[in-house]
Amino acid sequence: MAARPEVLIVLGGSFNPPHIGHLRLAIEARESFAPKSAKVLLVPCARPPHKASESFLPFALRCRLLEACTANLPDLSVSRLEGERTALSYTWDTLVALKQQSQAELFFLLGSDDFLALSTWFKGLALPTLAHFLVVPRGPFSEEDCLRAIFAFWPKAQSLPGRAPHWLLPEGGKISYLPLPWLEVSATDIRRRFLEQKALDYLVPDSVLEILQEQAEQVRTIWGRERSQSEIVRP
Ligand code: ATP
Repeated sequence: MAARPEVLIVLGGSFNPPHIGHLRLAIEARESFAPKSAKVLLVPCARPPHKASESFLPFALRCRLLEACTANLPDLSVSRLEGERTALSYTWDTLVALKQQSQAELFFLLGSDDFLALSTWFKGLALPTLAHFLVVPRGPFSEEDCLRAIFAFWPKAQSLPGRAPHWLLPEGGKISYLPLPWLEVSATDIRRRFLEQKALDYLVPDSVLEILQEQAEQVRTIWGRERSQSEIVRP
């Protein structure tokens, strides 16, 4: 049996579909904990509170895609936890459940764009009491933007010395900023390319590509809904 990791990193997302950006993020975040042993748990969202889900592939298919691309990566695994609940997929509930299940120190990994919107999430500002936060740069948001957000959210946050910038919150938990390189890949762009019958090679693992091709009709119908939405001309 595999040894228990000291650190468990949780990466949530729609994974519609999973791509190399998600995988490199998971791999590099895990490596940043060396020499501690760390594992990454990819948690696909079943019923998103924030995103329209009519163009989401079925939960079971997104899990299958994720399982295919992590099959050869023993430190990455997939949790179907959010599919087992009938309620909206709140990160709060997911972290409460994972905290009960795991002995490891819990870290929640997210891009700076999502981090800046944390106050709009269900119990968003209390989430670091359940898991430490690992924030990585995404889009136009800089480290300074994250720093401003930290002090706006938690005015009593205390800056700590260390390899990466991190802050201790008086309510419990800490926030670390991990300046990992960001690959310019998004699921939105991959869905567009698929609908335009362009090649997805090197944007998604081959195992994902094979399943997308095998399920092409279903995938085209579901992803096509997003396109028809965006093509509606508003007065
Ligand atoms: P979409 O384009 O449909 O909004 P996405 O590509 O942003 O999707 P998500 O499933 O929403 O993918 O992302 C899950 C997590 O992975 C988020 O924390 C997101 O910030 C991160 N992520 C997404 N794309 C990348 C990337 N290219 N590099 C690193 N991390 C990424």
